[in-house]
Amino acid sequence: MRRIVVAGAGQAGLVLALGLQRHGYAVTVVTDRDAETIRDGRLISNQCVFHPALTRERALGINFWDGEAPEILGASFGLAGDSPEPAVSWQARFDHPAQSVDQRVKVSAWLTAFAERGGEVRIGKVTPDGLEEYAREFDLVLVAAGRGPQFDALFSRDDARSPHREPQRTIGIMYLVSGRDEPLPVYPGLTFGLSQAGELFGLPIQSVRGPVFGLGFFGVPGGPMDVWDGVTGLDEHFELAMTLLRGQFPWVEESLAGARPSGPLDVLRGRVLPIVRDPVGTLPSGAKVLAMGDAAVTNDPIAGQGANMAAHAAAVYERRILDHGDRPFDEAFLRGTFAEYWEKARHATRLSNDLLAPPPDHVLATLEAAQTAPEVARRFANIFSDPVDYARWLTDEDTALAYLASKGA
Ligand SMILES: Cc1cc2nc3c(=O)[nH]c(=O)nc-3n(C[C@H](O)[C@H](O)[C@H](O)COP(=O)(O)OP(=O)(O)OC[C@H]3O[C@@H](n4cnc5c(N)ncnc54)[C@H](O)[C@@H]3O)c2cc1C
Repeated sequence: MRRIVVAGAGQAGLVLALGLQRHGYAVTVVTDRDAETIRDGRLISNQCVFHPALTRERALGINFWDGEAPEILGASFGLAGDSPEPAVSWQARFDHPAQSVDQRVKVSAWLTAFAERGGEVRIGKVTPDGLEEYAREFDLVLVAAGRGPQFDALFSRDDARSPHREPQRTIGIMYLVSGRDEPLPVYPGLTFGLSQAGELFGLPIQSVRGPVFGLGFFGVPGGPMDVWDGVTGLDEHFELAMTLLRGQFPWVEESLAGARPSGPLDVLRGRVLPIVRDPVGTLPSGAKVLAMGDAAVTNDPIAGQGANMAAHAAAVYERRILDHGDRPFDEAFLRGTFAEYWEKARHATRLSNDLLAPPPDHVLATLEAAQTAPEVARRFANIFSDPVDYARWLTDEDTALAYLASKGA
């Protein structure tokens, strides 16, 4: 039986490990934090997970929150204008509900399930040097240790696929609960606000503290929403969030009246550098290791693609490993595996990068048309679960305008 090690226990590494385990593989997961530490720790993400990734989780029997987590039924879009009301607004249902389960809940439960199902968990921080030992012990070494520079030297930047050298948004996220007896009257889906200063992204979440509303702001650096540097306290974050809400997205304010922070650890501030890497790393011995998830491709979270593409990577990598049988996991296998994943993931990266730029006229025209043409709104809302459709439709001005004309918009 092939021995496989996965370094990192997030959406990418654990979904793959749990999938391979089901097929009888001896999988080892190495992670720097045990389940309890993850669960008791700081907020990780906003993790809106769409139907394709949820389908995968259901197939693996790790959909522990169906029926408990609020269903995310659609998208509510608003474009900021000159008045308190949005200049453009519409709502549309997703073809299938999405879900957001706090990654602290999800990842800690999956790590526990993996161990209970017989998987080996080693607690420890994997270093680039330490990978050498794993390469000797295992037939295949996968690095799923998330974003950031820790493996920069191993997985070099792919310049052709990485248009940005700097983070494009300053991000401030917090979880809110109702301060009153009744729940917050929020939209039961994704609330997406767009202003010249940046974006608002809000959604109902099943968190470590039960149901919460995740409120995230994505500010253009140097602009009026670039406010998070130097903020340390929960109250200060909350005040700033409410100020941004009033100033940039006033039509959302009413639904959050009476909201209060859910807890001191339910807050996150920072920046994400979008980057695509060469996914195959060569260790000093010559052994090859393969990156997956954010360790291979990190998108700005603006389009909510990272966890979804991590799940997609897990599905593709699992099938490739199964199909490969007893043959050696050589460089051709590693590159072919990433290439198959990238075939879809590139569209998620394109969507994420495009949303970081001011919308071109044909996208603005589409958003406007969605107000009166429900079919346009529905199609737009669903690109987040199917970024391939975004590429088919909205990346080309002529195609986008022809589509609008065909819908009488
Ligand atoms: C603010 C914000 C909002 C987001 N919203 C969404 C969204 O709505 N939808 C969406 O799809 N995505 C979203 N994302 C992105 C999503 O969270 C990530 O893309 C996803 O978690 C990546 O999964 P991963 O398994 O690759 O990495 P991670 O989730 O980062 O997991 C990596 C794991 O490896 C462990 N680890 C790290 N270093 C080491 C080491 N050296 N040795 C051992 N273990 C290590 C970590 O503890 C962690 O458990 C958001 C991200 C942020 C920051």
